[in-house]
Amino acid sequence: MAHTAYPQSYYAASANPVPARPELDGEVETDVCIVGAGYTGLSTAIALLENGFKVSIVEAAKVGFGASGRNGGQIVNSYSRDIDVIERSCAPKQAQLLGDMAFEGGRIIRERIAKYNIQCDLKDGGVFAANTPKHMKHLESQKKLWERYGHTQLELMDAKRIQEVVGTDIYAGGMLDMSGGHIHPLNLALGEAAAVELLGGVIYEQSPAIRIERGANPVVHTPNGRIKAKFVVVAGNAYLGNLIPELSAKSMPCGTQVITTEPLSAELAKSLLPQNYCVEDCNYLLDYYRLSADNRLIFGGGVVYGARDPANIEAIIRPNMLKAFPQLKDVKIDYAWTGNFLLTLSRLPQVGRLGDNIYYSQGCSGHGVTYTHLAGKVLAEALRGQAERFDAFADLPHYPFPGGRLFQVPFSALGAWYYTLRDKLGI
Ligand SMILES: Cc1cc2nc3c(=O)[nH]c(=O)nc-3n(C[C@H](O)[C@H](O)[C@H](O)COP(=O)(O)OP(=O)(O)OC[C@H]3O[C@@H](n4cnc5c(N)ncnc54)[C@H](O)[C@@H]3O)c2cc1C
Repeated sequence: MAHTAYPQSYYAASANPVPARPELDGEVETDVCIVGAGYTGLSTAIALLENGFKVSIVEAAKVGFGASGRNGGQIVNSYSRDIDVIERSCAPKQAQLLGDMAFEGGRIIRERIAKYNIQCDLKDGGVFAANTPKHMKHLESQKKLWERYGHTQLELMDAKRIQEVVGTDIYAGGMLDMSGGHIHPLNLALGEAAAVELLGGVIYEQSPAIRIERGANPVVHTPNGRIKAKFVVVAGNAYLGNLIPELSAKSMPCGTQVITTEPLSAELAKSLLPQNYCVEDCNYLLDYYRLSADNRLIFGGGVVYGARDPANIEAIIRPNMLKAFPQLKDVKIDYAWTGNFLLTLSRLPQVGRLGDNIYYSQGCSGHGVTYTHLAGKVLAEALRGQAERFDAFADLPHYPFPGGRLFQVPFSALGAWYYTLRDKLGI
């Protein structure tokens, strides 16, 4: 079978040692078979193994091959739609539970890094940058909202103060979240995979699930083997394809692109981001950036609906980088890559069960580094019979894309056009 390697990226080029892992060959029995070794799958595996379950993971390519090994590395709290949207769409008790969980993912990441000694360049501090005065008003109400849920490490910044932490004058202000921060995302995934193996879990790479036989004892089939399990957890997210038609009908893979400069001088890097915080702006189609451990600027943005790979990533992203930092005009771009996240119509994650023993979590719609870590913990709780927090997510409404798969792309592109126009007009 063809061997799928990591896409060329700064992360693959600077990854910690990646051990060889077996392909699934023959028949295996386990308590839980997880499909996909991104953060969702790995986080679920760690939480289950820590509670005495036997776990095997099948991964189509390599650990962190998907979004988890390619993302902006930004630890962003809460969900892609915020708690106020959740409060408006569900019962008070459910909203309270979901609100209480909105900041847990970042804590789980930090606990795992400390407990399993994961070398992934963790830095504290994330900035939400307001492009317009209207965004600033939104951040003011977001701060009040988050404080209601006990999340207090927040500071509003006016147009002058934000320039002390981001070396550009394009922003109207911003909000600093000291419990946000950034990591080398692939090295986090690789460290979590090592933790899975330390705890006795097995990860099969180059082993795509090609069929899941449902029933009292579900069986996950790969090209050369099968795993019989008590439970299956589906964690393939935007890379799952049509393995489970119920899941693909209500979600859409989207590409977003990242570029990485050559290493900058220490002085230039410090002039861009003096405290080494990460930044994302408040536009619907947002820019996100940060420094790497070796002083490169990692800058992401752009969305391609339907996850087609754009021909020239640098041409799409570089102009946005130069808008913020024109002084980088002669700096070389060493890496450019694309990765897929999974969009849902509500932009809230989709969590649930297919029958009694197949569980899934998908679709965090762009902000998934923290949510996926929470999801793993919550999925593991449900498999242990404590499903209150799982059900708080599962009870959120899931909407199919209008018109089915055929219309997913034009429908979302229309939505994106509308929001881009709003971003441009500042309304
Ligand atoms: C370029 C980019 C930048 C981003 N930046 C940020 C950011 O800065 N902050 C943030 O919060 N979020 C960010 N996100 C989103 C975040 O990275 C994702 O939400 C998160 O990593 C999703 O994790 P996951 O484990 O659910 O999915 P993935 O990491 O995509 O993992 C799914 C895995 O399942 C495997 N798989 C799929 N199908 C099968 C199958 N049939 N059999 C076996 N294995 C299978 C895939 O190969 C893949 O390894 C970004 C996403 C992208 C693409």
